[in-house]
Amino acid sequence: MTVIERPRLGQVAITPSAVAMAWLGVGHRHEMVAVPAVTLGPGDLLVAIELATLCGSDLHAVSGERRASTPLVLGHEQLGRIVAIGEGAPARAVDGTRLIVGARVVWSVTAACGGCQSCKAGFRQNCLSPRHYGRERMQRGWELSGGFASHIQVLAGTAVVVIDEEIPAEVVAPVGCATATVVAALDAATRITGLAGTTVVIAGAGLLGLTAAAMARDAGARVIVSEPDPDRRENARSFGAAAVVNPGAASGSALSLDRALRSLGARGGHFRIGLEFSGSPQAMASLIGGVDVGGVVVLAGTVSPDSSIVIDPEALVRRLVTVTGVHDSAPLQLLKAVDYLQEAWRRWPFGALVGAEVALDQLDSAFEIAAAGDWLRVGIRP
Ligand SMILES: [Zn+2]
Ligand SMILES: [Zn+2]
Repeated sequence: MTVIERPRLGQVAITPSAVAMAWLGVGHRHEMVAVPAVTLGPGDLLVAIELATLCGSDLHAVSGERRASTPLVLGHEQLGRIVAIGEGAPARAVDGTRLIVGARVVWSVTAACGGCQSCKAGFRQNCLSPRHYGRERMQRGWELSGGFASHIQVLAGTAVVVIDEEIPAEVVAPVGCATATVVAALDAATRITGLAGTTVVIAGAGLLGLTAAAMARDAGARVIVSEPDPDRRENARSFGAAAVVNPGAASGSALSLDRALRSLGARGGHFRIGLEFSGSPQAMASLIGGVDVGGVVVLAGTVSPDSSIVIDPEALVRRLVTVTGVHDSAPLQLLKAVDYLQEAWRRWPFGALVGAEVALDQLDSAFEIAAAGDWLRVGIRP
């Protein structure tokens, strides 16, 4: 049983101490750090973590593919329960409800600063100096800054959403990262063309691709998922894909995109919406080259700066094609993502995507399991 005491204004003592897994750099194992007290600013939340999931970007940091300054508490996909709230300002959820101790919550991957031009103008999702959960060097005053910990300090300026007690932790933990990004991608697509009755091609059958397949199908689209890995590809059928294709398949062969489009009766063998979650330059080029007149391709899978593709501008101009990108999401998209999962988890097997779960002090083994690639997410439970 955790005891929360307030020795003086703003300060919160946690007994037994909160613990965070500090990552010290490539090649080092995580080390457990005790945090006996935190200082909560007005509207900050102290949240006891129920479950965190390991995202691909955590793996990229630990393998050295993504630069990070250490020591660092990784993890930005999680849910938990509020155990203390900083005095001096009301803490509110995205929908305006007042947050209270005991509420089960999820939150965005960044916190807005509240002081920059964008924040002052009311556009907190476009904050010029956001704080990133699970990505910033551990610092005095914000030690509990990542999800791989017993508790996390959720800063004022973070988009917070209260969740149902019934929704399984495995389903909702990745919502602030993966699900909200998919909502942003579909919002970007539907600004150009509607989903109902449309053929949508999704590149990549990771968590984002599968989530997008289920959402697009629920919105009335015919969904084709393109994925090189055979197990992941077949998995897409259980998330609503009407057909699955192998991006490497020769034109006209069994698993080719053109054959799938024809079999689904897509007009002229084309699709109107392409959603790119794989980060593969070939996938981007094939979506942009194959999308129908007036269609849209949303790029959401590219996370490294070193990929480039060749685009034939004339083809875009003559076919009136829109190519756009999304990164992260706005607070209302997080709310939409939560609303979706709270209803959809009973119909689509989102919970089954967290295939393994380890205890917090076994975090290094969670990274090993995740790196083996058998599961889309590995859960970490404090
Ligand atoms: Zn993530
Ligand atoms: Zn700001």
